[in-house]
Amino acid sequence: MPRAHNFNAGPAAMPVSALELARDELLDFEGTGMSILEHSHRGKDFDRVHQEALGLIRELAGVPDDYDVLLLQGGGSQQFAMVPMNLLPAGKSADYVITGGWSEKAFEEAKTVGQARIAATTAIDGAEPGSKIYRRIPKQKELTLDPEAAYVHLTSNNTLYGTQWASFPSREVISRPLVADMSSDFLSKPIDVARFALIYAGAQKNIGPSGIVVVIARKDVVAGGRTDIPRIFRYSTAAKDNSLYNTPPTFSIYLIRNVLRWVKANGGAAGMASRNEKKGAILYQALDARADFYRCPVERESRSLMNVVWNLPTKELEAKFVAEAQKSGMVGLKGHRITGGIRASLYNAVSEESVRALVDFMDDFARRA
Ligand SMILES: *Cc1c(COP(=O)(O)O)cnc(C)c1O
Repeated sequence: MPRAHNFNAGPAAMPVSALELARDELLDFEGTGMSILEHSHRGKDFDRVHQEALGLIRELAGVPDDYDVLLLQGGGSQQFAMVPMNLLPAGKSADYVITGGWSEKAFEEAKTVGQARIAATTAIDGAEPGSKIYRRIPKQKELTLDPEAAYVHLTSNNTLYGTQWASFPSREVISRPLVADMSSDFLSKPIDVARFALIYAGAQKNIGPSGIVVVIARKDVVAGGRTDIPRIFRYSTAAKDNSLYNTPPTFSIYLIRNVLRWVKANGGAAGMASRNEKKGAILYQALDARADFYRCPVERESRSLMNVVWNLPTKELEAKFVAEAQKSGMVGLKGHRITGGIRASLYNAVSEESVRALVDFMDDFARRA
């Protein structure tokens, strides 16, 4: 079989070179006579892999020295709980900017830990009674901030609704520590890590397999975290033991290393940004060129380069579109179960060639419909 044009939202496409290396080394990792899967997480062979992965994150994301880089388990969702467990002390409140389903979940989880309030939401009524949908990122003037908030949480890219923060509010606008869920756009472009107190990103969108999450947190934020919570949930525990407090998902860390080698070889975060801008331009141009048939519901300034969503005139046509695309080797185009429609995820490893194949198919489909 040729490789599929994979537009999955996550787990998602991975660079072929990262998979090929894993295949070639699966039974014998660098002449050690065993798989990396069989190595001790405290041995020198795995240690090299682990250090390389952490070092590549630091290098590629431009992480300053006064930040810790942690690799933790439980994915992005566990961070919805760990952030308030560590950073939200009794008597304080945290501010949440709600721009989609994932920020809703982060907010709901924070409320199980302590006090949280909504600093802004762009929710509007959906077609189903009682449902909420999102079409945009809020304007800065829409933020109503608590000057005493323990932190302000935002979601940099909204995977379900296809919206993305084009730039982040400055310190003049948000003075409290800023926390960002970057699960679906981490390392897709350069970011200023120093703007954030803490960043977290599930790996399965841009940098590896599922079940593992990168946390980048300022050392004073880690050190100042609550200590009245179980050790395994404290950032300080992971920071003290270099993310080896317990047995980490060694194979996932190995795969992240492989993916990051590919990111580095392809120009790092800036290289990814130019790739992603090009792919996004190709697909959005195709949508805009047939706006009577393919309708992108997202406000233009909020359009995501990672997840592109659109609708066809009817649900039947949408189902037909997905089925025919699948026959042409394009997978993962069905929209999220909450939002419906079509969604193409264009993470780092999705090639321009795949996007061009999709756009050709879209032209053909629209002409025939
Ligand atoms: C995928 C995703 C998550 C959840 O990640 P899990 O690894 O499934 O817990 C959280 N936030 C965003 C923005 C995501 O895209």
